[in-house]
Amino acid sequence: MGVQDTGCLSRVPWGYGLVRSYDGRCHFYLSSKYIRSNFRLKDFNPANVHPYGVMEKLVAQLQTMRYSLGVPIIITSGYRRESNTHGSGLAADIVVPRKTFIQVTQAAYNVGFRRIEVVRRSGTSFWNLMSVGGHIHLDVYDGSGNNTGGTMYDCPSCDGIPCYPWYAWGIQGGWWATSRPNTFYQLMQNLKKNAGYTGYRGC
Ligand SMILES: [Zn+2]
Repeated sequence: MGVQDTGCLSRVPWGYGLVRSYDGRCHFYLSSKYIRSNFRLKDFNPANVHPYGVMEKLVAQLQTMRYSLGVPIIITSGYRRESNTHGSGLAADIVVPRKTFIQVTQAAYNVGFRRIEVVRRSGTSFWNLMSVGGHIHLDVYDGSGNNTGGTMYDCPSCDGIPCYPWYAWGIQGGWWATSRPNTFYQLMQNLKKNAGYTGYRGC
């Protein structure tokens, strides 16, 4: 389920955003409101799109990650219509300037993210601090079985559904490599090999 299902998104008042809670209910808050200790609702809408919304699970997991990392997480891309996951309020692209790509990826995995795409800049390393540029995409593709913006959000067994879970390493502007069978261990293996950019992009 995404923020756009059941029409909630069309009822967001100006100056407000939507948070869809775990029970599927829609809550409208002022964009300036802190919806968790370190995140205002508008942090999930850096492009200032209207209307916009975010799934509570994404917010909760990012806040847990913020606590574990102990330094600010900057959302560089949140809600945007042209992406299935971003346009469903399920995804955030983040930068944590004071941590390395590896540290942030590990933290994301530890708090429960199972869809992680790590994109660095050419000429940099995944062991660099993220202040060198690049971003990490995280999403909470939720297994609800609802078809959201053309993406099937369902994972009865995860067999034969390459888009969930999904781990990928890549270089900005280049091909991205991902792992099958989609384990975090495999993710690290792929990183070590640097994966030969296969062009496979999950969803
Ligand atoms: Zn993204």
